[in-house]
Amino acid sequence: MKFGGTSVGSAERIRAVAKIIKAALSRKPVVIVSAMAGVTNSILEIANEKSRSTRLEMVEALEKAHRTVLSDLELAPSLLDKEFKELIVLAKKKLLLNAKRLDHFVSFGERLSAPIVAEQLQKIGVQAKSFPSWEVGMITNSNFSNAEPLPTSSALIRKKISFLAGVPVITGFIGHTKTGDIITLGRGGSDYSAAIFGAALSAEAIQIWKEVDGIMTTDPRIISEAKVVPELAFEEACELAYFGAKVLHPKTILPAMEKGVPVQVLNTFNPSGKGTTIVSSFAERRNTSHTVEALTFKKGVTAVHVRSPAFFDGTGLMANIFETFEKYGISIDVISTSVASVSLTIDKIDHLDDLVRDLEKFGQVEVERGKAIVCAVGGSVNAAGVAGRMFTVLGENKIPVEMISQAAFGISITFVVSEEDAVRALQVLHKEYIG
Ligand code: ASP
Ligand code: MG
Repeated sequence: MKFGGTSVGSAERIRAVAKIIKAALSRKPVVIVSAMAGVTNSILEIANEKSRSTRLEMVEALEKAHRTVLSDLELAPSLLDKEFKELIVLAKKKLLLNAKRLDHFVSFGERLSAPIVAEQLQKIGVQAKSFPSWEVGMITNSNFSNAEPLPTSSALIRKKISFLAGVPVITGFIGHTKTGDIITLGRGGSDYSAAIFGAALSAEAIQIWKEVDGIMTTDPRIISEAKVVPELAFEEACELAYFGAKVLHPKTILPAMEKGVPVQVLNTFNPSGKGTTIVSSFAERRNTSHTVEALTFKKGVTAVHVRSPAFFDGTGLMANIFETFEKYGISIDVISTSVASVSLTIDKIDHLDDLVRDLEKFGQVEVERGKAIVCAVGGSVNAAGVAGRMFTVLGENKIPVEMISQAAFGISITFVVSEEDAVRALQVLHKEYIG
């Protein structure tokens, strides 16, 4: 069970979290926590502050904020003394802005939140203890600010956790190098920690507790009828994340998917909700989901069209075109082709003039700004009739569509519209498929 910054962001939220963990005791939970909301950013500000005395004032403010939570929860005021002593020693040192020092600084966020959650559990009668992750096996390579666990970490985690009684409350986001330096997995890394621990332990499930009901059929700020998607395959979640949906970062749950451990997204504000379950087996989803289950879109897209008679002889022109995009580090989102042309979309327009100049060696180039990509995702949207229905509805609503693309495995249909039609396209499709 992983709880994010907002879920542990106040005394009230920590109380709720402890209750959620207590209710799951029969399933032998292992708990991973983030720093309290905003704390990682505050510590980064401290680490970057030039004046030593200001740094110390800032640490004092952070200490005060944590002490307020302790007193609201009626927990021992001395609970975090050791951590703050160490943080003050660090803040007194000469300013040093390397990744190793920054990792040491930000590690305190999670090292301050985990003991609070463990103590609150004890207080409501749950045997629990907090651990810095390295004490329970999170050993990583030496890539500061962006570490990866060592392959040996997984066996170590299994061994360490198996010896424990009660509920371990483990710091997300951080670990140790082999030589014992504190290191982080990169911003937002606690989800990754949860997946690493869950995979190592072959957990029944990994629960990512957030402040939303799950992954939504589309952005609820745009379409108020948006609902929770009950189940998605990993590949579907990847498509949604890529085209702008606020879901889990796919990389962070990869270890879980490789081990076949399902990942659930749940809401601490609504613990009885079913949330979204991300499953690793796409094969099953293909058989069970023959419709569009979620929709997302990405604005600010530019379409680049290259037209050339040379396409007829297929002499590596396509390879040359791709190489040109590569040269400027511009990645391509959607591609569609005809016999004598290719259209590609990009979302980055730095070097656009250079790119066009280079592409003009291969043919006539046309650039269209102000486009949007709409992406419809489902277990198998290549089932008969799904696409037909989609473009009929768009046609009836007079929304012109360009550059239609459907991947071979039928996970998604993407197409391009004018930016001003994007929200309407999403609305009519959401109404058609989801309600
Ligand atoms: N506290 C860390 C961050 O804010 C890690 C996390 O919250 O996942 O980036
Ligand atoms: Mg955070």
